[in-house]
Amino acid sequence: MKFQNTLEFARQLDAQDPLNKYQSEFIFPKVNDKKVIYFTGNSLGLQPKRTKTYVDEVMNDWANLAVEGHFYSDKPWWDYHERFAEPLSKIVGALPTEVTVMNTLTVNLHLLMVSFYQPTPTRYKIICEEKAFPSDQYMFQSQVDFHSRAVGFDKQEALVEIKRREGEHNIRLEDVLAKIEEVGDELALVLIGGVNYYTGQVFDMKTITAAGHKVGAFVGWDLAHAAGNVKLELHDWNVDFAAWCSYKYMNSGPGNASGCFIHEKHHNNSQLPRFAGWWGHNKERRFKMEPNFDPVHGADGWQISNLPILSLAPYLASVDMFAEVGMDALLEKRDLITAYLEFVLHEIDSEVDSTFEIITPSDPEERASQLSVFLHGEGRSLFEYLMKNGVITDWREPNVIRLAPVPLYTSFEDMFEFGQILKKGILGK
Ligand SMILES: *Cc1c(COP(=O)(O)O)cnc(C)c1O
Repeated sequence: MKFQNTLEFARQLDAQDPLNKYQSEFIFPKVNDKKVIYFTGNSLGLQPKRTKTYVDEVMNDWANLAVEGHFYSDKPWWDYHERFAEPLSKIVGALPTEVTVMNTLTVNLHLLMVSFYQPTPTRYKIICEEKAFPSDQYMFQSQVDFHSRAVGFDKQEALVEIKRREGEHNIRLEDVLAKIEEVGDELALVLIGGVNYYTGQVFDMKTITAAGHKVGAFVGWDLAHAAGNVKLELHDWNVDFAAWCSYKYMNSGPGNASGCFIHEKHHNNSQLPRFAGWWGHNKERRFKMEPNFDPVHGADGWQISNLPILSLAPYLASVDMFAEVGMDALLEKRDLITAYLEFVLHEIDSEVDSTFEIITPSDPEERASQLSVFLHGEGRSLFEYLMKNGVITDWREPNVIRLAPVPLYTSFEDMFEFGQILKKGILGK
């Protein structure tokens, strides 16, 4: 499609967009009495209007039924989480038994590492990406420290980061594969962010998973920026495990619960250690309060505690909306609107005489909803100008703004308008 940087053209794309109507399903903050152009759905998704109904339902059941709500509310609390299996499995490409919801993301990754990072004195290394999200870096360091005390490997050697080449913004697949090969039979685990939070680069999860398995390692993915944003086929790719947060592209609200994937092939493997609690225990016998743990067959067998229903309610509102929209329609709009934003950025860049650079891969296969823009010559003041003028983006040191034109609630007109505001912000100085 030949794009044009005009209001008329942007409106034409909106008129043809089957997801356009979903904008009115969300609540937008306002700046100067006008709804904002929201580019930070990769950090915290907007609140869907329907969410309040889901939360009110739990509040009312609690008020009216109290403890009886566990079994007798319309959506009983004791198995409330099972309502996620079907819709979430479609979002991440899994069997319903392979997904569950619990805890928060970093906590889940730690718990999954209990099962999937069992280092020995000779096979103890973890491959991750350079400049991984800080929480993941702290998690790796603390896991390595914890295990090295008991197993006695050299903890300085345990973490192997895949580096970017000099002068390049993104990690090359061939470098990931070469590193996996090189570490070989010392490799215990590959655990990478499926979409890099800083650059928006999407990794080839299928190929990397196969390469990790070939040298005998487990392979897991942190899908914080991928769930609800990228086409995932976790089951078919034979991924061992994955976890994601729900408050970014999945619009479930600040700090909300995580989702987990554990491949079917591991469900009945009693060789895998896990940390247990009563919610992972055999459903039929859970309330018999027996002494010996008999795990649910499936990802639910990794549950520990009874679930925070007031947190799950907004998450359920979100997965219901995703089920309605479907990932295919979502991804189709994602590609078109991201391409349009890229086009608008290039247009403005040429009009203002080249001051910025998109560091996200230009290949649509290697990116999703996010464009990260390096502001050469411009600084934080431009970011602040955008915020004051109703464009919500985020700033990452040293000089990057991240823009996520989330397909559920951003419009092509937003992209055009953003371009005009950006241009004014640069020329006005
Ligand atoms: C957002 C994000 C997290 C956040 O973890 P929480 O435990 O939910 O605070 C972790 N890892 C990555 C890659 C993220 O993008």
